[in-house]
Amino acid sequence: MNIQSALTMGARILKDKLISNPYLDSEILLAKVINKNREYVVLNSKKTINKKDFQSFERLIKKRSLRKPIAYLINKKFFWKSEFYVTKDTLIPRPDTEILIETVLKLSRFKKKLQILDIGIGSGCILLSILKEKRNFYGTGIDISKNCLNISRINAINHNVQDRLKLFKTNVDKFNYGKYDIIISNPPYINKFKIKYLEKDVANFEPNLALNGGIDGLSEIRKVIKKSSELIKTNGKLVLEIGFDQKNKVVNLLKKKGFYINKTIKDLANNDRCIVCTKI
Ligand code: GLN
Repeated sequence: MNIQSALTMGARILKDKLISNPYLDSEILLAKVINKNREYVVLNSKKTINKKDFQSFERLIKKRSLRKPIAYLINKKFFWKSEFYVTKDTLIPRPDTEILIETVLKLSRFKKKLQILDIGIGSGCILLSILKEKRNFYGTGIDISKNCLNISRINAINHNVQDRLKLFKTNVDKFNYGKYDIIISNPPYINKFKIKYLEKDVANFEPNLALNGGIDGLSEIRKVIKKSSELIKTNGKLVLEIGFDQKNKVVNLLKKKGFYINKTIKDLANNDRCIVCTKI
């Protein structure tokens, strides 16, 4: 079997199952199996692949046809300017979340040395992207998931920022270490009864721990705001990702805890996605 026929076969199976980018996914999975990049696969369509590789490819196609996300099948996802190691324990980094990076970079443009806290660090994609951009910034990441902390440590090492990163396995309520110039968080904010209506790729495969925001979607956001109000320096900034319909409620929660709202920012689909506020 040559690469071309394997690709076509894979893509056909995915297309029948209504996967949105069947040919692209087929290329990515075949590249993974033969340990090459996508360019190689595209440019070497006449090369043959051996039986063992073909069988591994078929297994991956099967998993993808059951809607397991590509990022979990290849254990990586590109975010901001680099690639992150991900497993089923972490949320898959989203393009919309890059807004948080842009925002932090803008508001810290003239700052030399800052302490940043990431509440619910997950794969580390947010905090590590910032540390990579700003060589004098120091990061602290907390997460309740040990596996996430291990993954963010691996990513920190891969991106060579591990010397400027501290990690703690803790509940947000119990954490009481340090004072921060900037606090960032992409907490779980989906109403727990609505998770099942998300795309199957998300609902069936991404960690509930990273999605489930309780009965009103705000239970973790409340904890993040409370903790931030305690650990943030005066004039420090909180940059928070929120659900598309949470702006007004979150603004009220923030005001009650002594934050001044600087702005809300929309995502690529024009939904409110990020709130920037200052502790006064
Ligand atoms: N943005 C994610 C989604 O739409 C949710 C992430 C979160 O709860 N923090 O699936």
